[in-house]
Amino acid sequence: MIKKQFLYAILASAVLFSSCATKKQTTTDPEEYHSQLIMSVAWFQNAPEVAALYHQGFNIARERVDEILENNKFEKPLAVVTDIDETIINNSPFEASLIAKEENQAGWYAWTAQATAAALPGALEFAKYLESKNIAIFYITNRDDNEREGTLKNLKMLGFPLPGENHLLTKSDLSYTTGNTSSKKERREKVSETHEIVLLLGDNLNDFSELFEDRKENNGKAAVEANKALFGQKFIVFPNPMYGAFEKPLYNYEEGLTDAQKRERLKTKLKAE
Ligand SMILES: [Mg+2]
Repeated sequence: MIKKQFLYAILASAVLFSSCATKKQTTTDPEEYHSQLIMSVAWFQNAPEVAALYHQGFNIARERVDEILENNKFEKPLAVVTDIDETIINNSPFEASLIAKEENQAGWYAWTAQATAAALPGALEFAKYLESKNIAIFYITNRDDNEREGTLKNLKMLGFPLPGENHLLTKSDLSYTTGNTSSKKERREKVSETHEIVLLLGDNLNDFSELFEDRKENNGKAAVEANKALFGQKFIVFPNPMYGAFEKPLYNYEEGLTDAQKRERLKTKLKAE
């Protein structure tokens, strides 16, 4: 009898132990969602180096504008093309909200409709400087058409110059015609029909040129080296470690990975020597 009870106790604890072990390994534990974002969002929201880098970028942009105006030989009116997210406005509260939460497109749409993102350091001052120098600003963003209203509201609320709604080019404005929904090439060409684009601002290399879109080989680093003279000259880059086109190559372009699987893929990309 005692033996039997002892056996039951062993069996029960074995079942309990195995269920605990299973729970620990599950990939849908809320605490596991997007934990890879913790360091990058903490850095983006707290490090003074972030503000310094934005100021540095906009200071260089301003110097470039002054140089261009001094030697302006262009026939067309001048324009600066800027990306929106993580270039002039700060969506890091949305990124922070993703930690311990499952991501979905509706959540992002709710965030952009809210129109409460803050301007990044130096962005508004630079945009207003352009306006004072009669240089047109075009906002080319990969936000969707259905996000136009919230985006316009957010930009206006912050005081960014918006000479006309055609100065905001969202993702489906033109890019669907080429089948590449995220390329900004056609939208840049559209702006070039009427304006001379003298400077481009972005946190993603795809904001500058289609030369950087192919990342299959070594995350596209060769294109950066081949065009290194353009950075700080025509292309002004801002820091964004939270998300971007750099991610897909890190996951070997595999779709539908869980956050735990993503972390495993990231570990294989780290070099310790
Ligand atoms: Mg961006």
